[in-house]
Amino acid sequence: MSNRSAIVIGGSLVGLMAARVLTDYFEQVTIIERDRFPAGPQPRAGVPQARHLHVLLARGSHIIQRLFPGIDAELDAAGAPRVELGYDTAVYTRGGWSPRFHSGIFTRSVSRALLEHAVRARLLADGRVRILEGWQADALIAGPDGAHVTGVTMQARGGSAERQTLDAALVVDASGRASRAPEWLQTLGYDAPQETVINAFLGYASRWYEKPAGFDVFWKDLLIASLPPYNARGGGLWEVEDGRWVVTLAGANRDYPPTDEAGFMDFARSLPVPELYDAIRQARPLGEIYGYQRTENRRRHYERLSRWPEGFAVLGDAACGFNPIYGQGMTVGAMQVEMLESCLREGGLPGVGRRFQKKMPAVVRAAWLMATGEDFRYPATEGGRPDLPSRLVQRYVDRFQVLLAGDAGMARAFLEVTNLLQPPEALFRPAFAWRVLRGGSLDKQRAAAHRAEG
Ligand SMILES: Cc1cc2nc3c(=O)[nH]c(=O)nc-3n(C[C@H](O)[C@H](O)[C@H](O)COP(=O)(O)OP(=O)(O)OC[C@H]3O[C@@H](n4cnc5c(N)ncnc54)[C@H](O)[C@@H]3O)c2cc1C
Repeated sequence: MSNRSAIVIGGSLVGLMAARVLTDYFEQVTIIERDRFPAGPQPRAGVPQARHLHVLLARGSHIIQRLFPGIDAELDAAGAPRVELGYDTAVYTRGGWSPRFHSGIFTRSVSRALLEHAVRARLLADGRVRILEGWQADALIAGPDGAHVTGVTMQARGGSAERQTLDAALVVDASGRASRAPEWLQTLGYDAPQETVINAFLGYASRWYEKPAGFDVFWKDLLIASLPPYNARGGGLWEVEDGRWVVTLAGANRDYPPTDEAGFMDFARSLPVPELYDAIRQARPLGEIYGYQRTENRRRHYERLSRWPEGFAVLGDAACGFNPIYGQGMTVGAMQVEMLESCLREGGLPGVGRRFQKKMPAVVRAAWLMATGEDFRYPATEGGRPDLPSRLVQRYVDRFQVLLAGDAGMARAFLEVTNLLQPPEALFRPAFAWRVLRGGSLDKQRAAAHRAEG
């Protein structure tokens, strides 16, 4: 076994970012990926979600730029619009249209396929990383007492029966929601983690369009949020590279958007405001409509296990997957990669996996609270109910959203929190709390906000 090498299982975005960080601590990093990668920025079988709208939150954008210096200029050159949130975006929420203002918070409006392609190309330019494509990791290898993971076994895909083993001092599982880590751990004599699953039964239907010539609006990205519990429907239209729009319609509470032409358009027309429907009515579709319904929040509580092997860590969707409607998965994955980096920096290799898993709850906390807190508003959501404090927070946030329509300071704070730049507590600053709690019914506040908007 080489003490100088690490393995990452899964060559998607989180696996690629993890590999980048591991190059600072290991002489060689091997990524095992069951897919073969397309030559260009195209979707592939292992990442079906790439056909859908992928929002890169500002925090995620910052981390990716730090890990891969120069990537932002490359995305710019590839035509991915730079977007100032609040100014280049039109967002319709509980309080009506959010105010247009300069937030100074930027991100890239980029397709998932291009982002992953650019990250992969930068990573591979580093000679210390190799990717084994077309190989599926199928078990962990450990010493006789199971206390130390020493590598993986893997199986060739595409008809060959070839199997191989690969040794490493650290194995990182970034194989997404399909991760088999619970089963692998059990085979080595460990417990499987407890799981929390909160499912709002939300479905996606997405289609790509050519942006019509002369289409003249101030926004590049348009988001129409659902308004639970009354309205479970929402939609987003993002302008990405090559003058394309990616449009995703979403319905929770099992109100799944249809994937046939007429049903898709009817669903778009049923949104609370007509902007998205009006835009796509004039646009040329670039292909079929894709559906997706595996959107439950799913958290595996590895941090609760009393025993954990040396040389192993689980991160990304493999450990914690979110309802994608809140656009958090890539960013929380990036934050976990930063946490893995700080665990390696501060404590070195011994015990790194255990330290990392113990810190995981702190990294996912805010995103998990926001995603599940929103999902609990839908009557059909399964996986528990919000307690009284959570319901009070929901009411507070409702009022906050109504008031921000007339207050750029509140709007900016809201953007910072939802982009994971600030913790949710930032919405409870005394100046905001005073405004929110000052009273008045939600309806009165909403009316005031709409007047301010007019
Ligand atoms: C419909 C949808 C929309 C989304 N929208 C957003 C969004 O707007 N913003 C956002 O930030 N996030 C979004 N997400 C979440 C985001 O896609 C993920 O969080 C992100 O891809 C990071 O996941 P990951 O790298 O952990 O796993 P994945 O992206 O799922 O990748 C896992 C990789 O592991 C490979 N693999 C699996 N098993 C094995 C094995 N045994 N051996 C070898 N390789 C294996 C797979 O082929 C794949 O390449 C969305 C997700 C979905 C489903």
